[in-house]
Amino acid sequence: MSQAMPTTGVHVRAPGKLNLFFEVGPLGDDGYHDVASAYQAVSLYEDVWAEPSDAFTIAVSGSVDVSTVPCDDRNLAVRAARMVAREVGYRGGVHLDIVKNVPVAGGMGGGSADAAAALVAVDALLGADLGTARLLAMGAKLGADVPFALMGGTAIGTGRGDELRPALAQGRFEWVIVTTGDGLSTPEVYGHLDAQRDDGLAPEGREDIRDVEPGVLHALRAGDARALAEHMRNDLQVAALALRPELRTTIELGERSGALAGIVSGSGPTIAFLAEDRDAALDLQISLAASGYAALHVHGPVHGARVLA
Ligand code: ATP
Repeated sequence: MSQAMPTTGVHVRAPGKLNLFFEVGPLGDDGYHDVASAYQAVSLYEDVWAEPSDAFTIAVSGSVDVSTVPCDDRNLAVRAARMVAREVGYRGGVHLDIVKNVPVAGGMGGGSADAAAALVAVDALLGADLGTARLLAMGAKLGADVPFALMGGTAIGTGRGDELRPALAQGRFEWVIVTTGDGLSTPEVYGHLDAQRDDGLAPEGREDIRDVEPGVLHALRAGDARALAEHMRNDLQVAALALRPELRTTIELGERSGALAGIVSGSGPTIAFLAEDRDAALDLQISLAASGYAALHVHGPVHGARVLA
């Protein structure tokens, strides 16, 4: 294979995600769960700059606490960069500069967004032009949420969440998210759900999950926030709330303060509140902030990982 020639530098932005609906099947023999997920990419972004270097290196900073993010080959973005380089036979290195705004271990897919951004950035940096289908396949090898961070918008994910199809969604949904510095480990939350199910403390997972509830698809198609609020669901919530009981108070406060509904995002601990419209979201953000919460107003859907000029 010919040696790819890097350009000088590329800037890519990738979004964090919310799960509007997340059904988790029983623990499979392979140690994984099948899921049915409705994802929405929201306007909280990771910025990744890639430039040619002698080795694969990374610097991580941001508006969130990044002290627990690995800065070596354990970082998903470094693995993504190496994967593209290997794919095109590039023998040099790449330096990645990551500026994170998505809370680490927050259930919003920040690491996956970094990996998606790195795939797109290094593909552009090396002039590889691998194409969407190959980048999606490479993303799925890195993690179940990476393909969605590439795709963005609103999508339905089945299998491990990586068998994706775009969902028709009209208009724009207004969200207020409440973040906490102290993240939750995704494997720990899944493990806790399995234990709760074994002990009869959580409903059994349905075998053979094929899709999200039709009500979710109808609400998205109609751009109807009230209808979506009625159908939002997250099977990991019962586990996240058991591990972090204080999140229940957050959800109750948000719902009393005007949210249509509040839900744990992914494996938590971020809470996502759906608001009726922009004004309602601003009011909600202000009242949650006045109560001492770190509340951000975001909207969705937004684009997946893409190169910025
Ligand atoms: P998900 O919802 O996709 O399961 P998350 O949003 O809860 O994940 P992330 O912030 O993506 O959590 O990261 C989870 C863990 O992955 C971190 O604790 C960290 O150790 C590791 N990690 C690897 N690469 C990254 C990265 N680029 N950014 C953040 N964490 C990373």
